[in-house]
Amino acid sequence: MEKKYSTIDWENLTFSFRETDRMYISNCKQGEEWEIGNMQDFQNLSISPAAGVLNYGQGLFEGMKAYRAIDGSVVLFRPKENAKRMQMGARRLGMPEVPEDIFIDAVIRSVQENSRWIPPAGKGTLYIRPLLMGSGPILGVSPAPEYTFLVYVSPVGPYFKGGLKPTSLKISENHHRAAPGGSGGVKAIGNYAPGMVPSKNAKSEGFAEIIYLDAVNHKYIEEVGAANFFCIKNGVISTPELTGTILGGITRLSIIELARSKGYEVREEKIDVEYALTADECFCAGTAAVVSSIGSIKHGDIVVEFCNGGVGEITRDIYDSLVSIQNRKSEDVFGWMMEIDV
Ligand SMILES: *Cc1c(COP(=O)(O)O)cnc(C)c1O
Repeated sequence: MEKKYSTIDWENLTFSFRETDRMYISNCKQGEEWEIGNMQDFQNLSISPAAGVLNYGQGLFEGMKAYRAIDGSVVLFRPKENAKRMQMGARRLGMPEVPEDIFIDAVIRSVQENSRWIPPAGKGTLYIRPLLMGSGPILGVSPAPEYTFLVYVSPVGPYFKGGLKPTSLKISENHHRAAPGGSGGVKAIGNYAPGMVPSKNAKSEGFAEIIYLDAVNHKYIEEVGAANFFCIKNGVISTPELTGTILGGITRLSIIELARSKGYEVREEKIDVEYALTADECFCAGTAAVVSSIGSIKHGDIVVEFCNGGVGEITRDIYDSLVSIQNRKSEDVFGWMMEIDV
């Protein structure tokens, strides 16, 4: 174990999986209540080949981070919001909802028992991955008879190489992420595999990610890969409204609240791609990406550059304000941070 630790290079963390020491696991039969689970050594699962999650994708994930603050303490960012979102997803996918207190206890214990993997302040964070899935066997397409809720963690660095450095994105012309009435508004595992090939193709052409337009009109911006989109024009911040096809990010919600408290006008609205291309600044936001400045967008044959390829003033202001709350450089006026004893 010490050997694993001594080989951590905190300077060069990337956003990739790294096995840690311990994980949380709990099981629940359909129709019964969740009980407090157990911590165990990180290990592979033993699961029926007929498990609902393997055959029909009955599964949800969450993504959150434990931050090492500048005072050395360890904090979570709005964990109740993740618990609530997973409950919403469980209702959509016919799974038993994990109670908020069990969810938060699981996250806290997973951080505590892997505390040596929390990177020093400024070097990275401990990414936390709660998973809820139909683990019992089922042959017909219907909810599984048994469910597993687990949490594992992994130390990570920045999601986009270069951090705030502006990224080049491309509008996806042939693919959409989610359709009205589908599951785009929850973190259903099945929402992500269809985006892998489009994203990989864009990366091979030199783009950092793709931007999805809505599936009905192919006109309004929805999301950037697995992050929410924002644009700023004449000082007004706009982000796509939540219509059920967009994942309601906790970073998105926090940026809306934070920006309004700083006096910015923030609109949740349909964003026509043509409007976004005339914006002064664009960025995307999520737990993994934090706030990532968008340097250019390619749409068909047109490439539009923002801020001459630099980071916009308001984007930087939002980024600084959010990060300084998360690392406790500034006061937690919204009551967003939860300290963990480690
Ligand atoms: C997780 C996710 C986000 C960001 O949500 P946060 O709660 O801010 O991390 C945005 N879009 C998609 C599709 C996601 O899966």
